Amino acid sequence: LPYVATRAIPLRCTDYSETSQVVALITPDMGQIHALAKGSRRAGKKVKTTPWQRLEHYDCVLSMRTKGNLHLLTEWKMRECFPIVHHDLPCQWTGYMATEIVLSCTSENVEDGKTYNCLLALLRRMQRGMDCDMARFVFLSRALRIIGCAPVTDHCVQCNGPLHGLTRFSPAGGGGLCGDCAHSDPQGTAISRGTLAILTRLGTQAGPPPSLRLTRGQRDEIQRAFNEQIQYHLGRPLRCGRFLSVFMD
Ligand SMILES: [Zn+2]
Repeated sequence: LPYVATRAIPLRCTDYSETSQVVALITPDMGQIHALAKGSRRAGKKVKTTPWQRLEHYDCVLSMRTKGNLHLLTEWKMRECFPIVHHDLPCQWTGYMATEIVLSCTSENVEDGKTYNCLLALLRRMQRGMDCDMARFVFLSRALRIIGCAPVTDHCVQCNGPLHGLTRFSPAGGGGLCGDCAHSDPQGTAISRGTLAILTRLGTQAGPPPSLRLTRGQRDEIQRAFNEQIQYHLGRPLRCGRFLSVFMD
């Protein structure tokens, strides 16, 4: 069986037997994989092993089983840690949300490996002290693009014209609706043109300008739009979605 060396961020670590763990990992080259870390919880005398921890950054070696099966971790070492994700409450919840999205929306394939970079960038931004809301919005914007459900926010999805008038946000329609087309989705929610423009900036390669400051109202509108978009595509609300608004100030 082939051995593969890769980097990984654990999304979920579950105790298995007395001494081991089963971990769900996002990797750059294989997407989401599940693996057994034998003896990871054993207090070793000779070789010191430490249990896997979610949302840290690892180097590891896997003994690969057939696709979709539990692979075997043969070596691992933490290469980078993100204490803020475990100690700061808003960052913690942002971590939960990101984890839930990557767990729910990726599987074992190369293409989904792109979400690894996206998640790593989020963790690094939060650790560097970037505004947690902004870091989360940039992550959401890029992650939704990778998994193929980014909303259109730079023109009306119905008539392809500019977003003028009393604009709405319609996940079922695929994004923003202009005032003239707003009636096409009665479930759509009101969203300001300014917020749609910010959503567009968030989705660009360069990302939002460092000088961009968001008002409380804009933060709420942006998070709500993402929540609605994700809920529509997952077919259920995010488990942690309702907690996030509590921390936004
Ligand atoms: Zn329109």
